[in-house]
Amino acid sequence: MKSYLTKYRCIECGKEFDPNELHYLCDECGRDYLPGMPLKGVLEAVFNYEEIGRKWKQNPDPLLFSAVNSKFYPPLPVGNTPFFRVNIPGLKSGGTASNYTKLWIKFDGLNPSGSYKDRASQLVVADALQKGIKEIVTASTGNAACSLACLGASAGLKVVIFAPQNAPPAKLIQIQVHNAELHKIDGSYDDAFKAALEYTKTHNCMCRNTGYHPLTIDGKKSAGIEIYVQNGYKVPDWIVIPVGDGVILTGIYKAFLDLKKAGITEKMPHLLCVQAESSDAITSYWETGIYHDAENPITIADSIKVKTPALAHWSVKALKETDGKCIRVSDKEIQEAQLELAKETGVFSEPSSSATLAGLKKVVNHSWLKDAKDIVLLITGHGLKDPGAVKL
Ligand SMILES: [Zn+2]
Repeated sequence: MKSYLTKYRCIECGKEFDPNELHYLCDECGRDYLPGMPLKGVLEAVFNYEEIGRKWKQNPDPLLFSAVNSKFYPPLPVGNTPFFRVNIPGLKSGGTASNYTKLWIKFDGLNPSGSYKDRASQLVVADALQKGIKEIVTASTGNAACSLACLGASAGLKVVIFAPQNAPPAKLIQIQVHNAELHKIDGSYDDAFKAALEYTKTHNCMCRNTGYHPLTIDGKKSAGIEIYVQNGYKVPDWIVIPVGDGVILTGIYKAFLDLKKAGITEKMPHLLCVQAESSDAITSYWETGIYHDAENPITIADSIKVKTPALAHWSVKALKETDGKCIRVSDKEIQEAQLELAKETGVFSEPSSSATLAGLKKVVNHSWLKDAKDIVLLITGHGLKDPGAVKL
């Protein structure tokens, strides 16, 4: 399937860039960007929406929204993950329970490397193959690295990873089993992010740092398009999303915005952003309008453990425009939700994803959720990624 991508555009100043060239941040707005602050001058992928809308009427194929021609995709398939209805009795007990009629799970832990990150890696690998680039580097708390190692192996590319040395052991093994070059960083995700940027400057490679490469956002869009199709071509009322650096949240937002721009839908889903208590920079920003880093992000939900969210600004914009909400959850609530999901739905999710159920449980009786008919829990990672976090 050909791509209908026409350009990259800076979300701050509107400056346009040619997507056939390698671009990361806007050369003007991103000039003052330094590692350790939310990204500035992030680029969004812009499409020929009119043409997509026309083609969609003939054949509603989610690939119409792909930013890279699918002939460049790595051989290992990504996406098309299960979307199914569940019943979680604990959600409706006590209080004036919400009237929601349908609760769905989108189980992205069933992607090839076990996480949602495969969607971004697939598109970045395809972009590298299209541009003839043989090496990709990324920073990661674990899952993006495992994913890039996996899809890079599928495509025969060299992969270089910078990851915090305290990432879950299973993830560090997963990175190495695919023969990626692993640099363990004695520091946080933010330190790994900085190290990967330094590496990019001195090597002839592509950088997949999340949010920094514009296609990491667009890759994460594909789950939103699938949710719309799998929900019977209907936009759900609420989508519950685990949030660390804000890229999945932004990707889902962009999915529904792109569907709207193509004239396929009218409404936007509300987004519920769930963060770990200690890793709540986006929630605080959304509440106060003032950005500051999460002070001391320590949580078992390593995939959403972020001090400085890459897409803090775009995430808050997405939350405002979808009339969304934010909620913080504790590690104890996450661990309880992990067991509840596994027992009630058969889905073994990693702690970050389990946070979605923990968050929904905390807000299910709020008046703003009362009239929701369809609610989707976005499960972004498989529980086998980090079995040590389970509290039986
Ligand atoms: Zn700009």
